Amino acid sequence: MKHFYSLNDYNLKTFGRKLYKLSISGGFTCPNRDGTKGVGGCIFCSEGGSGDFAESAEKSVTQQLCDAKRRVEKKMKDTSGQAFIAYFQSFTGTYAPTEKLRELFFEAINWEGTAVLSIATRPDCISEETLDLLEELNNIKPVWIELGLQTSNEATAKIINRCYGNEVYESCVRALRARGITVITHMILGLPGETYDDMIGTVKYINSVGTDGIKFQLLHILKGTALSYLSYTTLSMEEYIDALIGCISHLDPETVVHRITGDGPKNLLISPLWSADKKRVLNAVNKVMRERNVRQGSEIQN
Ligand code: SF4
Repeated sequence: MKHFYSLNDYNLKTFGRKLYKLSISGGFTCPNRDGTKGVGGCIFCSEGGSGDFAESAEKSVTQQLCDAKRRVEKKMKDTSGQAFIAYFQSFTGTYAPTEKLRELFFEAINWEGTAVLSIATRPDCISEETLDLLEELNNIKPVWIELGLQTSNEATAKIINRCYGNEVYESCVRALRARGITVITHMILGLPGETYDDMIGTVKYINSVGTDGIKFQLLHILKGTALSYLSYTTLSMEEYIDALIGCISHLDPETVVHRITGDGPKNLLISPLWSADKKRVLNAVNKVMRERNVRQGSEIQN
């Protein structure tokens, strides 16, 4: 029994095969760090701008994709005919002049292995010009835009220093989807001060605005982040699994679940240390899902 609509299921249905992610960098910064929108960045964000696994922007986009592909292929059994998601992961992936974005994104989308161009960014960093560019790219190959909402609770958004309001997210999602561009929303479980009900509230909000995909992430405390200087206790694995299952049960069944946990870079991870063993976490999640007969959207009341 399928407990949720996974990215793998979606890719098999849409592309007829599994896709592999290649994390690359466009050398961007972030307006929440350089003073344009805020200073210091989101309190959980590492020096790598949430792209600690991405390739170095000192190389060309093509070189990054080739290097990342070689690394991914080492873990594959069959490397023939593979297709990839070219993923601009670090910092704010649309925070540059449109001509620069055009150059980077066209290089990525035109690379022979690219099946999807995916870009992580902030909803307050997508201008009309950028929307035009994304629509143009989306006519060549699918474009996925990943938006770091993290929470719909405005009080928490202040605590984490997100530096934009929910209405900005809403209008960005609508503008992207009106142009046929796929939207993936990032949500973090276990943010400071948030209860189980707050997290369910965020899922309900995400459903109401509409999104094509969602990434559930666990709050990590990483070295050097503002969060690491606060006195804050992260979720236990049991609390995380409970919250995750609640969120999936309240999630629109049409929404593709891209991720159900995350492992922070081991050299930076302060807490929770249990998250470093991703296999163990996924096994535990699957076990509880089986025991509780979890189904995506089963708790949505019509
Ligand atoms: S918007 Fe993204 S890159 Fe910028 S500080 Fe927040 S998490 Fe980091």
